[in-house]
Amino acid sequence: MAKVIVIGAGIAGLAASIKLQNKGHEVFLIEKNENVGGLCSGFFVNDHYVDICLHWLMGTQEGNNINDLWNEVGALSNDVNIISLPSLGSFEYEGTTITFHRDLDKAEEEWMNISPIDKKAIHQFFETVKAVANLMNIAMSKDSRRAKAIDLIKLSPLSKQIIMSMKQSREEYAQNFVSPALKFAITHSQAGYNNMFFFFDLYGIFSKGNGDIPEGGALYMVERMKNKFLELGGTLLLNRTVEEVIVKDGKAHAVKTNNGTLKADYVISAIDPYYTYNKLLKGKYSSRLYKSLDSNIDKNTISSCFNVYITVEGDISNIDVPTGLHISPIKVGEKETDFMLVRPYYYDSNFIKDGKTVISLFIDQDHNDYMFYRSLDEKSYKKEKERIIKDMIDSFLIRYHHFKEKTEFLTCFGPIELNKRVNTSYGSFQSFSFTNKSTYYINNGKIKGIKNMFLIGQWTRSIGGTPTALLSANEIVKFIK
Ligand SMILES: Cc1cc2nc3c(=O)[nH]c(=O)nc-3n(C[C@H](O)[C@H](O)[C@H](O)COP(=O)(O)OP(=O)(O)OC[C@H]3O[C@@H](n4cnc5c(N)ncnc54)[C@H](O)[C@@H]3O)c2cc1C
Repeated sequence: MAKVIVIGAGIAGLAASIKLQNKGHEVFLIEKNENVGGLCSGFFVNDHYVDICLHWLMGTQEGNNINDLWNEVGALSNDVNIISLPSLGSFEYEGTTITFHRDLDKAEEEWMNISPIDKKAIHQFFETVKAVANLMNIAMSKDSRRAKAIDLIKLSPLSKQIIMSMKQSREEYAQNFVSPALKFAITHSQAGYNNMFFFFDLYGIFSKGNGDIPEGGALYMVERMKNKFLELGGTLLLNRTVEEVIVKDGKAHAVKTNNGTLKADYVISAIDPYYTYNKLLKGKYSSRLYKSLDSNIDKNTISSCFNVYITVEGDISNIDVPTGLHISPIKVGEKETDFMLVRPYYYDSNFIKDGKTVISLFIDQDHNDYMFYRSLDEKSYKKEKERIIKDMIDSFLIRYHHFKEKTEFLTCFGPIELNKRVNTSYGSFQSFSFTNKSTYYINNGKIKGIKNMFLIGQWTRSIGGTPTALLSANEIVKFIK
């Protein structure tokens, strides 16, 4: 059996470590932070629980490959309560509310009443969501024999619409509707910059109950994974930063950390590929795929966010989870935005303390915003951050003015803080987006020129997120002998 070093204890690193330790290998999992989880994590501020990640988790329903994997690595189990929210969110536009109900027929009927003129476009929208939901169910089913999603799409009677949606941004697709409220809701239906197909995918998965939330959110989920790894006898080294992977004759021999050097038979990097190639491998190796993705960043773009967490006293259960607000434009990062997502966490008692519930206020950011913040000196960035926090809380209070004296600021983070936390390029929380202009990509995890070192994590295929991190970890295990 082999000695394996896994760099980074995010979802990918934890999952790979658990699987390899379970197979009998000796695994050393090295993490630079004091806690595991990376981008999928949480912490406490003034005793209030802040979850920085889980809005939905693909694979919460039993009977599919991804759910099996989450169970295998201890993230989910029969003891973990799964919270099913009634909708994927509501979007308010000048007095009209568009809700993405879990019940697709209910949503279709409601939308038809709101905008009868959009009857045809609304029907086609819901037919496509249902078709994509069925395809994803087949693709994830245990007997799918790893059918490729694209082959399944070609078999669907709606294949033309589905393939077209990959080439359309949500804003472009929204032009199918006359109603400004529907246009607004479709355009902003989801965080990040993914194309219309990805929203069909998300809404379809959600409607089938396969994108819900484990109670306790991200922090409790990664703690379960950590405990599983330790129970199996794995070694977890926290507060240890890997500075270099030492390669000789095409083989990774050892890993140099801020606190000593460790030898290994195999090295798995479960962190950002740019950081891996440029910092850990000192620029001596390179990947054509990642070079090309980065040089076309405007087409692929990255998804990040500016996230402000507040507590609100009193009953907030009438605010849908989440609620998209049309706000007076505010400048956040490089550009102005008139959209903000409000996410109240009242559905899980872990987020409620002394009658106060945590709410997150969320604004999309991309690589241009990251570069803008980077151009500021420390003092100017701090000032800019304070202004953004104030503008975002003010925008919330304009809509929910009755909470004026009952709102307290907790914490915030943006692309700069995400980059500092886990070394993710441009502060991305989901790698490159699958946009209307980019092509879907998959990296098989191999590093050209190094036999025994592999790459896993959210950056290994388009659209990133925890499912990508999990699947990439699962797929790399076969290379470790
Ligand atoms: C606000 C927000 C909302 C999100 N919402 C969702 C959601 O609803 N659903 C979903 O599926 N996903 C969501 N995501 C995305 C999800 O969190 C990530 O895609 C996923 O957690 C990435 O996992 P990973 O293991 O690939 O990488 P990471 O989490 O980045 O893990 C890498 C780890 O490596 C460590 N590391 C880095 N450099 C070093 C070094 N030199 N030495 C040692 N350790 C190092 C880092 O500290 C980190 O722990 C969200 C993320 C954010 C921030």
